[in-house]
Amino acid sequence: MSKKLFIETLGCAMNVRDSEHMIAELSAREGYELTDNAKEADLILINTCSVREKPVHKLFSELGGFNKIKKEGAKIGVCGCTASHLGKEIIKKAPYVNFVLGARNVSKIGEVIHRDKAVEIDIDFDESQFAFKDFRSSPYKAYINISIGCDKQCTFCIVPKTRGDEISIPADLIVAETRKAAESGAKEVFLLGQNVNNYGRRFSGEHEKINFTELLRRVSAVEGIERIRFTSPHPLHMDDEFIEEFARNPKICKSMHMPLQSGSTEILKAMKRGYGKEWFLNRAAKLREMVPDVSISTDIIVAFPGESDQDYEDTLDVMRQVRFEQIFSFKYSPRPLTEAEKMTDTVDPEIASERLSRLQAYQDTILDEITATYRGREFDVYFEELRSDGYAAGRTDNNITVKVKGSEELLGTIRRVKITEVSRLVQYGEIVA
Ligand code: SF4
Repeated sequence: MSKKLFIETLGCAMNVRDSEHMIAELSAREGYELTDNAKEADLILINTCSVREKPVHKLFSELGGFNKIKKEGAKIGVCGCTASHLGKEIIKKAPYVNFVLGARNVSKIGEVIHRDKAVEIDIDFDESQFAFKDFRSSPYKAYINISIGCDKQCTFCIVPKTRGDEISIPADLIVAETRKAAESGAKEVFLLGQNVNNYGRRFSGEHEKINFTELLRRVSAVEGIERIRFTSPHPLHMDDEFIEEFARNPKICKSMHMPLQSGSTEILKAMKRGYGKEWFLNRAAKLREMVPDVSISTDIIVAFPGESDQDYEDTLDVMRQVRFEQIFSFKYSPRPLTEAEKMTDTVDPEIASERLSRLQAYQDTILDEITATYRGREFDVYFEELRSDGYAAGRTDNNITVKVKGSEELLGTIRRVKITEVSRLVQYGEIVA
């Protein structure tokens, strides 16, 4: 009988891809099969995220829960960013954990499972050219890493300490992965990196040095690929050449994630983001002008240390001017190993909560106005998922989630859909062609 693997993935798309890599390695080399029941697993992995405080706090209670229900002899491994920053502390606090594997050491999974109490968290480890076995959680969409690590030093962010310095994956490997994905039937690729439009900054070894715009051109030349998405670009590196390629290339999906973090130039300085309010507004305006149907999403942190009422109003002002289609907003929480952790001019927690709720309510009003304009319009939707309520779900080119009544034959197809019912999160429609 084959061994069973249960894996829980928290956090960002990079973690989703890391989990896919671990599943592939474990199934090809060790014969593991996936299960969604932790009780019957021979190996339980938690692929952790440390960007926010909450999931880290939850880790130990979750581990305790898994330890109680796991079958005799089953192993537990902690992987990902929290593994990188807590390292052996995890085994000290939860001695039943069998190994700890950092976010930069995913390729060692086949080896660490055989070393009890192994802690592999080397953030200088270079796996940029490691040939992972193949596994995709969706046959319709392929996640492809284009770089690992991050060279920025944003003062609130722990990622450079958990994923190490930035290294770009050679372009020929990325194009080869894209071809493989197209041959296996995926129409969409999702290029991943902490800072994708900084691509080409550093390679390990001698490789052709191209930038992200050129990489996009090469990926879009792969036959069979109809849609290209990427995350996350950095507003600082959104030069004209990049925006023009984004606008001109029909295979690039017209949705852009532009992590704002704060609308105040002063706070952006304290965050060491490398751009100010005016630059951000200028780039967003250029995008809206060149791609009228673009949808722009963003990340916002409220109540960063030192944030005054005026700084906060600047953030609302950027929201008013850009009218984001989606925001991911959070109250600032200090992360270990970051510069901001030592900042003392913290914002009163009550004020922080009030700012966050007000900002989210404001976004809701913007979103209601935006989604109201979708009613009656037609979009091309790529269907990727069958929901239990009898609906098939997919995304438009500009990242609107659309559901229609339908079954399996819709999956993997791009169909014309007329929107009949709108809401903040999902739009409903009917197929017209
Ligand atoms: S760009 Fe800044 S926020 Fe993004 S991963 Fe790098 S350090 Fe963190």
